[in-house]
Amino acid sequence: MAEPIFDYEPLCDDLGPAKIVHVHDPGVGLRAIVVVDNVACGPSIGGVRMAADVTTEEVFRLARAMTFKNAGAGLSHGGGKAGIVADPRTTEKEPLLRAFAQAIRELRDYIPGPDMGTDESCMAWIHDEIGRAVGLPDVLGGIPLDEIGATGLGLAACAEVAAEHCGLDLSGARLAIEGFGNVGRPAARFLVQRGVKLVAASDSKGAVHDPDGIDVDEIIAVKRASGSVCAYSRGRKIPKEGLFAVDCDVLIPAARPDCIREENVDRIRAKLVLQGANIPATAAAEARLHERGVLVVPDFIANAGGVICAAVEYHGGSEADARERIVERITRNTREVLEAASARGVQPRAAAVALARTRVEEAMALKRHFA
Ligand code: NAD
Repeated sequence: MAEPIFDYEPLCDDLGPAKIVHVHDPGVGLRAIVVVDNVACGPSIGGVRMAADVTTEEVFRLARAMTFKNAGAGLSHGGGKAGIVADPRTTEKEPLLRAFAQAIRELRDYIPGPDMGTDESCMAWIHDEIGRAVGLPDVLGGIPLDEIGATGLGLAACAEVAAEHCGLDLSGARLAIEGFGNVGRPAARFLVQRGVKLVAASDSKGAVHDPDGIDVDEIIAVKRASGSVCAYSRGRKIPKEGLFAVDCDVLIPAARPDCIREENVDRIRAKLVLQGANIPATAAAEARLHERGVLVVPDFIANAGGVICAAVEYHGGSEADARERIVERITRNTREVLEAASARGVQPRAAAVALARTRVEEAMALKRHFA
């Protein structure tokens, strides 16, 4: 085998990455990485993560996840991602984002969106510089994806199909949500509208458990006012790690990566796990859940609502178009993935990767330079 010509060559495979770009602008102290993984389905869309410890490998993994998420959702977009190496609390955020935008001006097959450490104002600054970004404020034609709860809406659509698949009646089903943020809060709201009973919710400060049911509007208001679900007036306060052991039917991890792992996987009592966060379970823990008969809908199928909304915005669609597209795509994809997994006797993730990979490969076969 030939010697690798650059450090990250071992990460490459038949899908990508197409480009790994390192940006350095000492004038403003900008250090950034952009990975355009695969553009066979169209220009890549993916978030700009701002974190002091973001690495090229992390950005590559996230870009690949976007390739699968976008293809899985049937979008005419490939996968990409960017990382700006900086503390998101920096007072120099705007100059950094503007310099970053200028640096990627000619990287036209990458369309930036918000991610950890960036928001719609950051996307507005990028758009102001180069006219290319999604997740914009509504005054610039953006669809406020967190306000409409795009990812939560998709999770609720996913829950309907998955519950039917595993013989669970959503009406009265008990729900626990880890991470009561922009994904967890709307997921709770949309699922309660479908008759689900929220019994536990957590955030970075702790968790609350009430088997009789938590009032979703009240806990959302409490979280907004006090900054934590722990200030909810009823139920029992439990440590945040205790959320995974709560007696429930549906569990939505919607916070950090790898929170379901070997040490806690066997404490999970839910019949259905919908992955709201990206990579919330280790591969071994996900396999263990499958072995135990727990149905797990993988992240890039279940949490695609946000990027579907961003793609609708990019193509000039309305908020109503976005809602319709999210429900339609996620319903269809969840059904297809779960049916394929059952038919082949494999984990839903294996079926989901196969579905997304096939779509990318079909698109690649239509490209001259990939033939
Ligand atoms: P957010 O910052 O709005 O909310 C995260 C929530 O998790 C907060 O309430 C925080 O207090 C809580 N949290 C942090 N650490 C915790 C811990 N150890 N235990 C319990 N709770 C904890 O973030 P978000 O936008 O809701 O994103 C959550 C996850 O979903 C991330 O993995 C993100 O990449 C992924 N995701 C988000 C979207 C989106 O549309 N926002 C779309 C797809 C995937």
